[in-house]
Amino acid sequence: MKWLCKLLVVLVLAIALVSGCEFEKTTSDDSSQHLSTSSVWGPTADEKRPASRQLIVHFIDVGQGDCILVQFPNGKVMLIDAGDDQNAPFIVDYLREHRVRVIDYLVATHPHADHIGGLDEVIEAFDIGKVYMPRVTHTTRSFQEVLLSLQRKELAVTAAEKGVLIVKDRGVEARVLAPGASSYEDLNDYSAVIRVVYGSTAFLFTGDAGKTSEQQMIESGSDLRADVLKVAHHGSSDATTEAFLQRVSPKYAVISVGRNNDYGHPHRETLDALSRNGIQVYRTDIDGTIVFSSDGEQLAVNN
Ligand SMILES: [Zn+2]
Repeated sequence: MKWLCKLLVVLVLAIALVSGCEFEKTTSDDSSQHLSTSSVWGPTADEKRPASRQLIVHFIDVGQGDCILVQFPNGKVMLIDAGDDQNAPFIVDYLREHRVRVIDYLVATHPHADHIGGLDEVIEAFDIGKVYMPRVTHTTRSFQEVLLSLQRKELAVTAAEKGVLIVKDRGVEARVLAPGASSYEDLNDYSAVIRVVYGSTAFLFTGDAGKTSEQQMIESGSDLRADVLKVAHHGSSDATTEAFLQRVSPKYAVISVGRNNDYGHPHRETLDALSRNGIQVYRTDIDGTIVFSSDGEQLAVNN
């Protein structure tokens, strides 16, 4: 597998050992398929998990970057990205404050530092179930650190690509909608895009996916509808086309963005498009951490 080889090469550049980092591809998951850490948190650990009837989604304020905690109604936990390197202690504290002990599904949307920078420390700090990453490598220190931490904990990686089912359990479904192609010019377009559905409510998490990926998602015919859209790429005008917004048709949009960032995010074009479509916008630079909850019918927001 080319991807595996590239990942191993990156790892060799980082250190002189290459064993233990196995990658596998699956198109479906259930708890029975948990990988090497399953023995760490078997049925006994599961029994202690606080289950609620709520799906709770935390857009954690990490400045210019992304970090999203999803607590499923069955008590399981998904973390999408982990901000920049400097955010790691805050993220670890935040998760512990919310009684996270195990991250059942850990998603690195794409290998940019504002998404994976804090991931190595998160991997060290928690028991991790399945890890999802797109099939792309990057020769940065942040990426190498993630691979090293995965290796230290003997965690395999599952490819995040269109069609992969992460969760399907009692009215909850989390599915990967993108990337839908094997290569892109722009690293952002490799972003894992995940739609989480609970009852009649839905969330769409887009990483930094740009217009190319958006167009592919539209053409794929996938159901993109969501009540809450995590606006791609911190509100950059490289993403969030009118056609995509029409298909997603969200009531709420969340922009995860740092105050006075170097990129001018969020861009005026994106804010105009959201406003034109009557979408209520929350921004981490203004609102701080934003928490949505869903009982499967109604959404509430509390930040
Ligand atoms: Zn980013």
